[in-house]
Amino acid sequence: EPKLLDGKRISQALLEQVCEATELLGERGIVPQLNVVRVGNDPASAIYVRHKIRACENVGIGSSHIHLPPQITQRDLLAKLERLNGDDAVNGILLQLPLSEHHNPNEAIAAIDPQKDVDGFHPGNLGFLMAGHAELEPCTPRGIMTMFRAAGVDFKGKRAVVIGRSMIVGRPMAQMLVRAHATVTICHRYTEELAEHVRNADIIVVATGVPGLIKGEWIKPGAVIADVGMNRSEDGKLCGDVEFDAARERAALITPVPKGVGPMTVATLMENTIRATCAHHNLAIRGGEVYEDVDALCG
Ligand code: NAD
Repeated sequence: EPKLLDGKRISQALLEQVCEATELLGERGIVPQLNVVRVGNDPASAIYVRHKIRACENVGIGSSHIHLPPQITQRDLLAKLERLNGDDAVNGILLQLPLSEHHNPNEAIAAIDPQKDVDGFHPGNLGFLMAGHAELEPCTPRGIMTMFRAAGVDFKGKRAVVIGRSMIVGRPMAQMLVRAHATVTICHRYTEELAEHVRNADIIVVATGVPGLIKGEWIKPGAVIADVGMNRSEDGKLCGDVEFDAARERAALITPVPKGVGPMTVATLMENTIRATCAHHNLAIRGGEVYEDVDALCG
């Protein structure tokens, strides 16, 4: 019987830990604060931001949604981010992508204070990820690792194949898997013989946005699959990048779409906001206790 990798349930466990943390911080008069900056009127972005703000409300994180007009200049956008960087009450800054056509997203991401960069996309944080000690990591791959670990997935020496090489999912995912001692292959739109790579994989993470790209018959029996894709099919339903029903026959574990990777991403954003808040106050939370002056503790 193939089992579902239940992102909904595992994200709830993570959110309970976040709630505990906000209570402990609250006892010290600290309310974590996430500011979401959205530019323009992309309909998918509006939905994502709504989910993020609602998640904050559910776990006791303060939030603010700053909606900027599509024609805002790059300069004014950078100035807005600078103000949030300088605002001591703001712990997390999330710049919802995409921006408008005329913006330079890389420059905007780099303008965010890396210590408030709860998406983990700042080049400094991506560099720390590669170095193996990032405080803030991209939410989707980190959430997938949390889900894999909660399900007891064994990484050591296993063949992991990541399909998609975006800065927000595929590339950081590959880094995290290699750090967990997997043998990692990254595939992308120019990969030859994608099927052969997938056939050999013990762990498969797919983030392409191509519905049904990964065929069920390619799946090695007993493989573990995380499907990041969120595609709208003709009948209006959400579907992933994997042929779910056929893949499920062969996989040991597979994420459904929806209720797989999506809820883990949002819960990990909450986790990152707590991590940013604790780092800002030089606190650490472990096993229901708050530890002060972490810098001194770590020497
Ligand atoms: P992207 O468009 O930035 O990158 C897509 C990647 O897929 C590219 O690296 C490309 O080389 C690869 N690709 C495209 N066609 C391919 C093919 N035929 N064969 C092999 N590789 C191919 O995408 P992204 O931002 O990483 O997002 C990917 C998907 O994941 C989208 O559907 C997006 O909506 C979804 N997503 C979901 C979440 C979540 O939380 N569930 C988070 C982020 C993205």
